[in-house]
Amino acid sequence: MQQFFVREPLATDSIISFPEETEHQLLRVLRVRGGETVRLVDPNGIPFLATLEVTKKHVTAHCDEALEEKRELPHPLLLALARIKREKWEWALQKATELGVNAILPMETERVNEAAPTGNRRVRWERILQEAAEQCERHRIPTLEASLSLAEILAIPDVEKIVLAERSEEKAPTLERVLENVAPKGSILLLVGPEGGFSPQEFVAMEAAGVHFANLGPRILRAETAAMLAVGITAQWMEA
Ligand code: SAM
Repeated sequence: MQQFFVREPLATDSIISFPEETEHQLLRVLRVRGGETVRLVDPNGIPFLATLEVTKKHVTAHCDEALEEKRELPHPLLLALARIKREKWEWALQKATELGVNAILPMETERVNEAAPTGNRRVRWERILQEAAEQCERHRIPTLEASLSLAEILAIPDVEKIVLAERSEEKAPTLERVLENVAPKGSILLLVGPEGGFSPQEFVAMEAAGVHFANLGPRILRAETAAMLAVGITAQWMEA
């Protein structure tokens, strides 16, 4: 069923109209005729079933009932991902949303080679997050933070930070083992390095900041693969 995030709080029997872009999608792309049931999610993260009503050029929705359902992770899960090539970055935004992350932090590290994102790029990324959240019927769109340096990310308070580190089987335990040791469950921030990995100096800084290091197995994964595996394992652990 098609889902849309709406800007106003919803209540049973309220009638809402859609922004021009959504109305265009409903009429021209989805070719609705009225009577279709859709999901609407309001700014408080409350989902409703609604029935579409079509007049000549406009679509409105009648809110039928609020839904009792669970879609969000029980604790905040944040992903600090070093900026990687555009297509891979955008793939990671979509998949991380499907897996349940609450926030994505574009991370600047020594070995990031990509140029800083423009305003247009951020608008495109926010659209990717929204569409992915609608497609998988989430109640929240993950936030996309401004680009942050590794030092700024290490200074974020009140969150367990886990750095994914390859080729460190002897030193770093598996992610599952690290998660067992951070009970009681709470907010988790995962850090995944760029294509060239973290530098030795960055490892020293991370160690000094008291992060956990975790390993995802003996193979070197691409950054986006490592990020999705780490997010998937952590999300399942939170929901277990
Ligand atoms: N510099 C590395 C090399 O060439 O050997 C590759 C870095 S890897 C492509 C990018 C990031 O993915 C790493 O910084 C790390 O955060 C994560 N990563 C990749 N494989 C991993 C593994 N087996 N365990 C944990 N993290 C991994």
